[in-house]
Amino acid sequence: MYRNHVNGTLRLSDVGSEVTLVGWVATRRNLGSLLFIDLRDTTGIVQCVSDHPDDFPDVRNEYVVQIKGRVQAKDVPNKNLPTGEIEVAIEELNVINKAQTTPFIIADKTDALEDTRLQYRYLDLRRPVLQNNLRIRAKIVRAAHEYFDSHGFLEVETPMLNLSSPEGAKEYLVPSRIHHGSFYALPQSPQLWKQLLMIGGVERYYQIAKCFRDEDLRADRQPEFTQIDLETSFLSMDEVLALNEGFLQKAFKEAAGIDIELPLRRIAYWDAMDTYGSDKPDTRFGLLLRDLSLLKKSSFEGFGEADYVKGIVVPGVASTTSRKNLDELNLEARKFSLKGVIALKYLNGTLEGSFAKFLSEELKAELVKYLDLKENDLVLFASSASRRQIDNGLGALRLLFAKKLELIKPNTYDLLWVVDFPMFTPVEGENRYVAEHHPFTRPRDEDLPLLDTHPEEVLAYAYDIVINGYEAGGGTLRIYDHDTQWKIFKLLGLSDEDVAKKFGWFIDAFNYGAPPHGGLAYGLDRLTMIMAGTENIRDVIAFPKNLQAVDPTSKAPREVTPDQLEILGLELKNEK
Ligand code: ASP
Repeated sequence: MYRNHVNGTLRLSDVGSEVTLVGWVATRRNLGSLLFIDLRDTTGIVQCVSDHPDDFPDVRNEYVVQIKGRVQAKDVPNKNLPTGEIEVAIEELNVINKAQTTPFIIADKTDALEDTRLQYRYLDLRRPVLQNNLRIRAKIVRAAHEYFDSHGFLEVETPMLNLSSPEGAKEYLVPSRIHHGSFYALPQSPQLWKQLLMIGGVERYYQIAKCFRDEDLRADRQPEFTQIDLETSFLSMDEVLALNEGFLQKAFKEAAGIDIELPLRRIAYWDAMDTYGSDKPDTRFGLLLRDLSLLKKSSFEGFGEADYVKGIVVPGVASTTSRKNLDELNLEARKFSLKGVIALKYLNGTLEGSFAKFLSEELKAELVKYLDLKENDLVLFASSASRRQIDNGLGALRLLFAKKLELIKPNTYDLLWVVDFPMFTPVEGENRYVAEHHPFTRPRDEDLPLLDTHPEEVLAYAYDIVINGYEAGGGTLRIYDHDTQWKIFKLLGLSDEDVAKKFGWFIDAFNYGAPPHGGLAYGLDRLTMIMAGTENIRDVIAFPKNLQAVDPTSKAPREVTPDQLEILGLELKNEK
């Protein structure tokens, strides 16, 4: 027997017990007459001591050892450790395996570069903080299994090797050995399969589904990620949302000990955009977007007739915002295709800044009153002919200031549904649309006539679950009749031939009695990030890819041999 106790749960009530422990040497201090070993296993760390160090073999950090001894109360408890009230007096110490000096110290606080940590991920994973993240992740998955199983959902696996359908994100392709020149695609999501499951009479499906998207990576995006994916038949949107709220409540409670009050708030897409400048609003702080159309009354001639003029008021920073700060803000705004932002400072009871010369005294007074300005407030505003553009730009600045000014209280959770999404986003300069969610989304009944006249105004039965400014999941009710589905494909610019070739196999199924259905998918990685309190998605995935989409541990992707290519009927172009 390697052990009869685990390390992290030893407490005062164990004092006097003879214990046999195993684990890794987290730290070791040999003071000559006193030896301290902090012994780590997956449950935590316990301090082991001896006042006759010479009786034991020398050990170093990360050695795997077995320690036998007696639990005793510590004279001075260590408040930083859950086991800090006790220690283990070493009676026997056996080295099970040695370890080289590790490339970085294995502790929660580390200054090791992330690249190094990812290269030696198996060492990184020994850090309690990462083990805790994995535990939170596993608890969310367990909550999903328990909840959906107890609500009549059937877990069904769907294929990994799929037909390529080039809408949406770029796909990972897999060459076929048997059919040279043909490729499978890895799933971006099980969307079509889960809809076919509904047509197949399953009624309630869920799956912990691996999904693949070959997109540029960000702090919260990985090429392979996991969804908690589900689909239901014969439920209204309200019923789908209520069912999901029950899951969220359970998951937050069981994985993170957080109580969520139900029902969750709902906010319409355009309200979120207008007020927060985002379709995934973080509503934990103010800095709301304000309509500043009244600035069109100024003598400034640069606003177009149809332009939107909007801004935000950042309290208390006017005097400390330098020219350089404003240049940085302009750079940020340009990332969102805004021409730039203009600043007005409310200092010494008046509005200052290069734009002030365009404002009459009356207009200044009107503005101060309208925005309820206080001394030292900064007004930032922009104009644009595009509603989405101005909202997105100012929304980004809003977040920037919230971070800078530390307006977000730590450990606060804000969950809400964003609903009433537009069905389509127009493609600038082209006479076509892209689907805001995906092409299988059902337009609201009352908006169906608009499909023929004003598609851009059609709203959909679509809903995103937004938590602390992250889109943690999203879904829609689906189209369940063949003709509407066909019409949507046409609005998305697909020819009859395209539709028949790419989706014929799918929409044919709608001719055989498709039930009304709808569902949702959660990003498991993002849910875990939120509950673990990290902004880095790699912290919640055991073996993640880095920002170059490389797995730093195994170094995938790598070249393959000419033989392997030959078997697949592939030849590489000579470009390096
Ligand atoms: N398949 C969708 C997605 O991956 C989610 C859904 O509509 O259920 O975003």
